[in-house]
Amino acid sequence: MKGLMMDYPLTLVTIFERVGKLFPKVEVASRMADRSIHHYTYGDFYRRTKKLANALKRAGIKKGDRVATLMWNHYGHLEAYFGIPLAEGVLHTLNLRLHPDDIAYIINHAEDKILIVDDVLLPLYQQFADKVKLEKVVVFPLTGKKHEGPFIDYEDFIGPESEEYEYPQFDENDAAGMCYTSGTTGRPKGVLYSHRAIVLHTFGLGLGANFGVTQKDVMSPIVPMFHVNAWGIPFLGVMIGAKQVFPGPYLDPESLMDLFIKEKVTFTAGVPTLWLGLLQVLEKNPDKAEQLRGLRLAVGGAAAPEAMIRAYDKLGMTIIHAWGMTETTPLGTVSILKSYMEDLPEDKKYEYRAKQGLPVPFVEVRAVDDSGKEVPWDGKTMGELQVRGPWIAASYFKLEGSSDKWTEDGWFRTEDVVTIDEEGYIKIVDRIKDVIKSGGEWISSVELENALMGHPAVVEAAVVAVPHPKWQERPVAVVVLKEEYRGKVTEEELKEFLKPKFAKWWLPDRIIFVEEIPKTSTGKFMKRAIREQLKDLKLD
Ligand code: ADP
Repeated sequence: MKGLMMDYPLTLVTIFERVGKLFPKVEVASRMADRSIHHYTYGDFYRRTKKLANALKRAGIKKGDRVATLMWNHYGHLEAYFGIPLAEGVLHTLNLRLHPDDIAYIINHAEDKILIVDDVLLPLYQQFADKVKLEKVVVFPLTGKKHEGPFIDYEDFIGPESEEYEYPQFDENDAAGMCYTSGTTGRPKGVLYSHRAIVLHTFGLGLGANFGVTQKDVMSPIVPMFHVNAWGIPFLGVMIGAKQVFPGPYLDPESLMDLFIKEKVTFTAGVPTLWLGLLQVLEKNPDKAEQLRGLRLAVGGAAAPEAMIRAYDKLGMTIIHAWGMTETTPLGTVSILKSYMEDLPEDKKYEYRAKQGLPVPFVEVRAVDDSGKEVPWDGKTMGELQVRGPWIAASYFKLEGSSDKWTEDGWFRTEDVVTIDEEGYIKIVDRIKDVIKSGGEWISSVELENALMGHPAVVEAAVVAVPHPKWQERPVAVVVLKEEYRGKVTEEELKEFLKPKFAKWWLPDRIIFVEEIPKTSTGKFMKRAIREQLKDLKLD
């Protein structure tokens, strides 16, 4: 017998209509190119986004056509997040930190028709303009100045359009968004999000059991809107009608601290390097840190060091550790303590919080060894994390059915090596290609990095495998010291610091001090580049 319920599609239309009807007075704030802060309301957003949808239709966008954005986080990008899918197009966010040749490859592969680009990013666009074929380029005035050049100004594009928009019929499985993986593991591949996946993911993200946000929160996604939908936070803000605050192009810690204080931000999200930088500035400005007491900071994209979680607690702010990837829309796990864990000893609680956490409802997980067998949930045995669920990709764009990233029984292979403990908490031990294979055993680069970052003199530390004549590979660390410790802390001292925490054979053969660690377009350590820098290092 079938249930007697309406067959109602899960689409962005419902989320969008709700904010327009129920929360038109709530503000959206955006840092502009001249550092001023632009304010408008969801009422303005609602009207302008419908104009954008009309303009895109007039420009010839048909069901499934890809419309690309090359933009920072601000209200214009939020309008594109909804305007493009409402016009039946596919929102294709371009990662502005990629090499121009890669951006061109991605645009051509996706066959984008229209590009909406921030005026401040036009110089980047010029670097690949002759390599792509676009029907139209629309320029968003982040400087506040009308675009007078060869392209169409965004305000002129939407200006003449009606504020009424007639919604087409959507199927919840229609594509709404698209994002290419950053190519950390090979050529970028396109992930195609459906309306249904985004809606369900937004529910998952908004659950009290995960980030616990409400309409009263002021949400500031610092994680870029140009990669994996800023973890879906802009969609969530609109769904629940919470104020959103966007940083524009200014992501340095001073600018963020200032923005958070001015706009009374209560919830933010970003990669660990961002929050490590912010921490240093907050510790130097206790009066400002006091004004941000109560702030919750979601962290993902790379492991949140336990020392950082502790340091924010001291300031009265809470780090929430999460894991995900482009192919998982991205939320997969969140580390929240269970009710009966509150009385555990402090150290134990931090151990759990530093793990990547529990799978969120509707994301199923398993860890599998080399022979394809599931490993036990004992917190020790390592295996590859595999996932499935309604917001996990089933295939890559134009590569349908031809990738080895899916198992025969329909699970997605993350290529992350994990342990899962008895309570179900997942810990990312490494990426398959970054794990250090020493004498037939595996050493987790991530654990060594986290331990090093727990030393008071260390800002950042990355550990990579260096070839070794006897052991095949050995760990070598590159470390950035805080300014005041440079020249004062020695390699030996850091090795002594690690000794009590690891088996002897885990300790890095060398610890090398550097000014800076190369990072990928999404703010992660670029291990490939570090290995390249160390290629002449001889170990014995
Ligand atoms: P790419 O690194 O190729 O750009 P994504 O942006 O999709 O890909 O990043 C996903 C990857 O980032 C995951 O597979 C995992 O290795 C890493 N990652 C994400 N969150 C965490 C976390 N909390 N801890 C450790 N690693 C993480």
